[in-house]
Amino acid sequence: MQITEGNYQISGVNALDLCKEYGTPLYVYDTAKMEAQYKRLTKAFKGTKHKMNYACKALSNINVLRFFKDLGSGLDTVSIQEVQLGLKAGFAPDDIIFTPNGVSFEEIKKAVDFGVRINIDNLSILEQFGSYYGGTYPVCIRLNPHIMAGGNIKISVGHIDSKFGISIHQTRHLERLVKSLGIKVEGVHMHTGSDILDVDVFLQGADLLLNVARDFPDLKYIDFGSGFKVAYKPNDISTDVEELGKKMTKIFKEFCAEYGRELEIEFEPGKFLVSESGYFFCKVNVIKQTTATVFAGVDTGMNHLIRPMFYDSYHHIENVSNPAGKKRVYTVVGYICETDTFASDRQINEIKEDDILCFRNAGAYCFTMANNYNSRYKPAEVLIHKGKAHLITKRQTLDDLLANQVEIKL
Ligand SMILES: *Cc1c(COP(=O)(O)O)cnc(C)c1O
Repeated sequence: MQITEGNYQISGVNALDLCKEYGTPLYVYDTAKMEAQYKRLTKAFKGTKHKMNYACKALSNINVLRFFKDLGSGLDTVSIQEVQLGLKAGFAPDDIIFTPNGVSFEEIKKAVDFGVRINIDNLSILEQFGSYYGGTYPVCIRLNPHIMAGGNIKISVGHIDSKFGISIHQTRHLERLVKSLGIKVEGVHMHTGSDILDVDVFLQGADLLLNVARDFPDLKYIDFGSGFKVAYKPNDISTDVEELGKKMTKIFKEFCAEYGRELEIEFEPGKFLVSESGYFFCKVNVIKQTTATVFAGVDTGMNHLIRPMFYDSYHHIENVSNPAGKKRVYTVVGYICETDTFASDRQINEIKEDDILCFRNAGAYCFTMANNYNSRYKPAEVLIHKGKAHLITKRQTLDDLLANQVEIKL
């Protein structure tokens, strides 16, 4: 989003016009940014056979899935419903990887029936899988390298206390199961968390994973998960994917030479591909000055954007209605009957009631985490593609809230 001739525009589309046409609160995504991020990442790994699987839990609208499919991306899924969405979006089963945590063996069997790639993250399910399928259906193994990384404890998933993956200290047991049940291991995988800034953390994890990979002779790919950090503030730093690409390509190629075969390097980014493509617009309902604070109360809350309350995430906020205004200090709060603070003591261009505010980095884990708390409707979603706005999700109505409720006579 840029200011052009005094107006905020997203790829040439006027932001205030979008809010007028579709109402607020409103999620808007720009395919130009998604494409730029996808190309940046694939370019960084062009020196080796690579594949990016878009982690669709970040933003799961079917149009977004199709957009990534058309760019050549695969799909990373964490539930059987995401698998079904991916198939409906037109992904070939082999381009979908199912990486669930703590699901039943029944759900894994469904994924096998759909023909997608399966990533197993615990020994109990692996043992059931091996007993049931033997070597007839290949699997990928999710390992936990036990490194502490990530922006917040809720999104750090590779550390020692984490529920994710098979511990690298359990590889003896793992090998025992694989051998005795004849399991065919086609991939090994790790995912250590989100918002990892340090390239060396990735390399350290990669080293541990490659060490385990040596023991599996039938590999086709090695999946290094995700966790790339994006910029949240103006001039914020992000993961240097170019440096990462260069260093990992070198390590990976050396590994392949030693392994005796060229394997594919895979990643499953969510946030990196869509976070910065998204904007969340809301309207200021009330300016409330208390003895201590100037609150800007907006027409949305933690029901539509929970990341600031759940992860302490920073979302940059701009007053789209007052691009040239002078900065003043505000605490931006939602309309939910809990303390749902989006930002405290934030400098924002002077705000009046009815002004439109914009939250940045609203592409990943924002709409997909929205809910109906306080019986509010979920917002509409709009996709900007080639300079044109398209409605891709309608705002909910009262009928949606009641759709699955069954009225009984008491
Ligand atoms: C959530 C998740 C991702 C995506 O993480 P980002 O930080 O959004 O890139 C990748 N892989 C797995 C297994 C995940 O659960």
